[in-house]
Amino acid sequence: MANFNELELWWVTGAQLLYGGDAVVAVDSHSKEMVDGLNNSGNLPIKIVYKGTANSSKEVEAVMKAANNDSKCVGIITWMHTFSPAKMWIHGLQQLRKPLLHLHTQYNAEIPWDTMDMDFMNLNQSAHGDREFGHICSRMRIPRKVVVGYWKDSDTQERIAVWSRVAAAWADAQDMLIIRFGDQMNNVAVTDGDKVEAELRMGYHVDYCPVSELMEYYKKVADADVKALVDEYFRLYTIQEGLDKDSKVLYEAAKAELAIRACLKAKGAKGFTTNFDDLGTDDINDPNFVGFDQIPGLASQRLMAEGYGFGAEGDWKSAALYRTVWYMTQGLEGGCSFLEDYTLNFDGKQSSILQAHMLEVCPLIAEEKPRLEVHFLGIGIRKAQTARLVFTSKPGNGVTATVVDMGNRFRLIVNDVECIKSKPLPKLPVASALWVPMPNFEVGAGAWIMAGGTHHSCFSYSITPEYWMDYAEMAGIEMLHIDKDTTMEGFQKEMRFNEVYYMLNKALK
Ligand code: MN
Repeated sequence: MANFNELELWWVTGAQLLYGGDAVVAVDSHSKEMVDGLNNSGNLPIKIVYKGTANSSKEVEAVMKAANNDSKCVGIITWMHTFSPAKMWIHGLQQLRKPLLHLHTQYNAEIPWDTMDMDFMNLNQSAHGDREFGHICSRMRIPRKVVVGYWKDSDTQERIAVWSRVAAAWADAQDMLIIRFGDQMNNVAVTDGDKVEAELRMGYHVDYCPVSELMEYYKKVADADVKALVDEYFRLYTIQEGLDKDSKVLYEAAKAELAIRACLKAKGAKGFTTNFDDLGTDDINDPNFVGFDQIPGLASQRLMAEGYGFGAEGDWKSAALYRTVWYMTQGLEGGCSFLEDYTLNFDGKQSSILQAHMLEVCPLIAEEKPRLEVHFLGIGIRKAQTARLVFTSKPGNGVTATVVDMGNRFRLIVNDVECIKSKPLPKLPVASALWVPMPNFEVGAGAWIMAGGTHHSCFSYSITPEYWMDYAEMAGIEMLHIDKDTTMEGFQKEMRFNEVYYMLNKALK
């Protein structure tokens, strides 16, 4: 479980001394009341810490530098109670390296028509103060979110809450290590990309760990720990008939899980990838064999549920993105998973795509209690009896996303989807979801393919596209959103415009 309690958002009120010290004292007290009100609303996942009014260029710069250097601070919220001359913000904004939310609100809700005088005006001038601030942010091309609304309204608080979660996940990604056990699946383009640029843009670092090193952890796994984990499986899941606690396949699956978790913990990694052709010693009949006897799919499923990012077949971009989705949805209903476009179901207006993987789907999206089953899997180097959790996902709306490397930029592709009830798959014992992409199967899948999207994506029931908009803004990457209003004509135009925008953007830097 990620802990948001340790995190802070810093609130800075823009002011100035033009109206005298008394005005600033009043604004200071208004600001405290607003911050307390937001914190006590119960609608924000991360506490806001009031950092005072900033009345000069020096004060702005000082608070921005302090925010950069405070690891608890995951973002800054600014509010201009009045005209805060924006040249005062230039040096501070040049320094700021944390996400920024500009809240356009006002202490007072309604105009007190009968009593309003100049003193009132001087304390309630965000109507133009926030425009001055907005101008300098736009002039400086500062990435940010602008939230407009009364601070006591739950809609306004929800906008802040979404951004807060993304800011927390963004901070998490800046300290994220993804471990690749094995390389990319040979010849696959869409899941690969520029790892240097990924670290520059999205913060996370990708390292390789030889499977032989992982095997050192495997060798050290204690027998008692494996047995305890198998017991846990029996407590948590519905068990396939005939499968008992002495199963060698389950024993090896549990041992693999313990080995991978120990290795990830030792390295401080937040995510990993696997490759079904790289599981230790090649020949299981070799007397010196040290390796997984099966693809560690059950381990991947359970580690995903624990919050480890996961991408199959070396897909490190999906591993990092999954960790981000999992992190930002902490405490929300729903669930998330890494998924793969598996097979199509043509059925008129209800045409849909079966989402699954040969093993690795996260049980957080399961509708029913997952079933622990063992079946033969004829893919990869082992071709062996393999443990896995089998379930179908809940019906409902969700959002899926992927990141692809377009050569001159990363592109985040987001699609609203509706999960529908799938029919039983008695001969396909894997976890799955069945969804209709918005606006419909033809345009949803067509736009995704035109955008160059992967067959892997990171899905969540808990989020809205707004989360990804905020993420793309923080990362400074392209976002294409396929939703109920998408048309192929409009989407293709947007892609062409973006092509020019990013070409020029790159040239200007
Ligand atoms: Mn795959």
